[in-house]
Amino acid sequence: DTPLLEIKDLQTGFKIGKKYYNAVEKVSFKVDRRRIVGIVGESGCGKSVMSLSIMQLLPKGIGEIRGGEIKFEGRNIEKLSEREMNKMRGKDISMIFQEPMTALNPVFTIGYQLEEVLLNHENISKKEARLKSIALLKSVGIPRPDKIVDEYPHQLSGGMRQRVMISIAIACQPKLLIADEPTTALDVTVQAQILELLKDIQEVNDMSIIMITHDLGVVAEICDEVIVMYAGKIVERTDVETLFYDPKHPYTRLLMGAIPKMDEKKEKLETIEGLVPSIQKMPQDGCRFANRCPKAMPECFTITPLLAEDELGHEVACILYDNSRQVERVGER
Ligand code: SF4
Ligand code: MG
Repeated sequence: DTPLLEIKDLQTGFKIGKKYYNAVEKVSFKVDRRRIVGIVGESGCGKSVMSLSIMQLLPKGIGEIRGGEIKFEGRNIEKLSEREMNKMRGKDISMIFQEPMTALNPVFTIGYQLEEVLLNHENISKKEARLKSIALLKSVGIPRPDKIVDEYPHQLSGGMRQRVMISIAIACQPKLLIADEPTTALDVTVQAQILELLKDIQEVNDMSIIMITHDLGVVAEICDEVIVMYAGKIVERTDVETLFYDPKHPYTRLLMGAIPKMDEKKEKLETIEGLVPSIQKMPQDGCRFANRCPKAMPECFTITPLLAEDELGHEVACILYDNSRQVERVGER
């Protein structure tokens, strides 16, 4: 069975001055149908760049896919024309962001924005689009959808706006939803409700979700599989139970320690000392995490660990684990 999404050796660069620097460096992974895959890491690790690459929404003239492939249902989409990609967006793949206010247009009603998406992708009348919009708002748990449909984004709370964004994103029943920090701007209770909603929608609509987050708590809540990214590379990948039961990469372990307790404020999350290296200052040799890693050894600064899996399919890129070291040796020959 072809995976829904297959990414191979993806390299996405950003132009600074005259040079391109890779924000995503040879990343490969798959998303199967009906799965929720989390991509986790601090900001600056390449998570959002990855989602913009999949959506082909990189800033023009600045961000560019420099290598690798992105296959959606077996079809290469990294080379689609603007027009072909426009057709896919919303219909096959859609996206929600952290701040719905930036994605919603403040001058149009909620109904207008929903209808626009429906009329764009489906062969239906205006009247049908309106009825469908109300039904969609209802399906994402918006109370009195027949009233809200004529309201403007600023009239709604943050949580309600995110529900509206979700209704727009799923309007044409995409097979893949990319959710980039969809709950980060919301308070804890609303966050839990939105995650619950996403889980329900995923089941009802039979779709897959890529959940991009800096918060392992979110991952624990709804993901089936997890990819941990650091400085543009995948450092660990496994199913969610294994990740929490047996985290391997020192970076993942530090992220685990940074999960806030329910009564703590979200701001406390950034507890790992040091910073993700900027893309211009990425170390070329060795492990990119070496300068922050509590387990770093001298060879970590010279040997580049490669992602390698154990017998159970748990993948990790760290020379503490034999597999990564072996692959690197093979590669060096
Ligand atoms: Fe730490 Fe070395 Fe493993 Fe990198 S390779 S995560 S520096 S132990
Ligand atoms: Mg981001």
